[in-house]
Amino acid sequence: MEIRTRFAPSPTGFLHIGGLRTALFSFLWARKNSGKFILRVEDTDKARTVPGALENIVQTLTDFGLTPDEGFYWDNGLKSRGELGPYLQSERLDIYKKHAEELVSNKHAYYCFCTEQRLEQSRKEQQEKKLPPKYDKHCLNLTADEIKSKLSSNQPHVIRLNVPSDQVVRFTDLVHGEIKVSTNDVDDQVLLKSDGFPTYHLAVVVDDHLMNITHIIRGEEWIPSTPKHILLYSAFGWESPQFVHPPNILAKSGKKLSKREGDVAVKDFLEKGYLAEALLNFVAFLGWNPKTEQEIFNLRELIESFSLEKINRSGAVLDFDKLDWINGLYIRNMKIEELFARVVPFLVKAGIKTENYPKSFLEKVLLLEQERLKKLSEVGERVKYFFEDPQYDPQLLIWKKSDKKIILDNLQKLQNFLQTLPSEKFAKESIEREVKQFIESQGMKTGEALWPLRVALSGLDASPGPFEIMDVFGALSEGKEIILKRLNRAAEILF
Ligand code: GLU
Repeated sequence: MEIRTRFAPSPTGFLHIGGLRTALFSFLWARKNSGKFILRVEDTDKARTVPGALENIVQTLTDFGLTPDEGFYWDNGLKSRGELGPYLQSERLDIYKKHAEELVSNKHAYYCFCTEQRLEQSRKEQQEKKLPPKYDKHCLNLTADEIKSKLSSNQPHVIRLNVPSDQVVRFTDLVHGEIKVSTNDVDDQVLLKSDGFPTYHLAVVVDDHLMNITHIIRGEEWIPSTPKHILLYSAFGWESPQFVHPPNILAKSGKKLSKREGDVAVKDFLEKGYLAEALLNFVAFLGWNPKTEQEIFNLRELIESFSLEKINRSGAVLDFDKLDWINGLYIRNMKIEELFARVVPFLVKAGIKTENYPKSFLEKVLLLEQERLKKLSEVGERVKYFFEDPQYDPQLLIWKKSDKKIILDNLQKLQNFLQTLPSEKFAKESIEREVKQFIESQGMKTGEALWPLRVALSGLDASPGPFEIMDVFGALSEGKEIILKRLNRAAEILF
């Protein structure tokens, strides 16, 4: 049997971390089994639809390499393919209606004409009696003639599931094991609303069945809805698919993450400078674990290692330190040209006019920071000193307990010495050799020479060493001049 999974987002917001995890697990399980991954869009709640959300969800999945085999995908715009469509629920209304009516005719569902006021009244009474609010099956007692006349006079109505009393609904969740619920705790769920739209429960069951879904993988928050779905499968006489509910994603505080919190939108993570491949690697571990030491996985390796048994039961905690660590690792392992291409937008955002500098220089700047960078968005702040003259703290220029006069003297001597060197010498090995020889010949203490030199070049408390910085400036035709100017300004400040 072909394994078929689906991701079924509602376009009520941009793709968030939880959605990405659901999509990833569904994708992995399909790929692992040479099956199919379907993207269906559940847009039956028109009031909550957010413009642009559908496009964002589909495009982001494609950016992450999670391209659906059927349903919506992104290829220079929103496209859809597959034999079992349409894949947009609002285009399937007649299918839901037909199925809801089928349930009415075999008594698993019934028409309900109750007004909002009556429902409100009955809810109030239940609350007063401290009973859980449930529909009281009032309309189940209507006679065939009454129903007929109400329908022919176009009275507003819904179709409700007729949940039998005193039965036990059971299903096996592949993560959580057997789950049992008494039907006495299940409401007569509305299946078809008065505007002809299905509720989520009807639409999800009909579509998962008609689209031959074998494994429903979705967040734990859908477990309470599953008994209703099981009742629907049996009312239709259909075999239900396998259910897999990975654990909720929790914030470090232990609270459940909500997609309404803007900071869990995938787009925000990408804008903060997390790499898609690092984020995907991180998200894979939210509720799954390969049960080995390996922590770094590309998509192909994830497909190989993924299995449903390795999904954990308990909450997956979003640990941003771990994300930073993984992201830093991906950045370090990246080829410089690739890193460069990805970093340019962040440099531009930081106000650096990249078009005014040769690529060789920009790449060298990056190479210097590649080791330390955790997020691409940090890059502007880190490399700013290459592009604008530093502001010096005179105290910082002075090495430990050294004397201002010595430092000033050393800086001036170094400046004069560097002045005599030809520009070609401003490359890592040669400049290091020359400067070290000079320091020795002058009897300077290393710290008293190299510390102020470094601070004069970067203005920073912590930065790469002076030879590395000079080597980078060496890639600019005016590099030597910049270096001398900085030494001069630092000396002036100390003077
Ligand atoms: N449309 C639901 C959502 O927005 C999908 C639930 C499911 O996968 O069954 O999350």
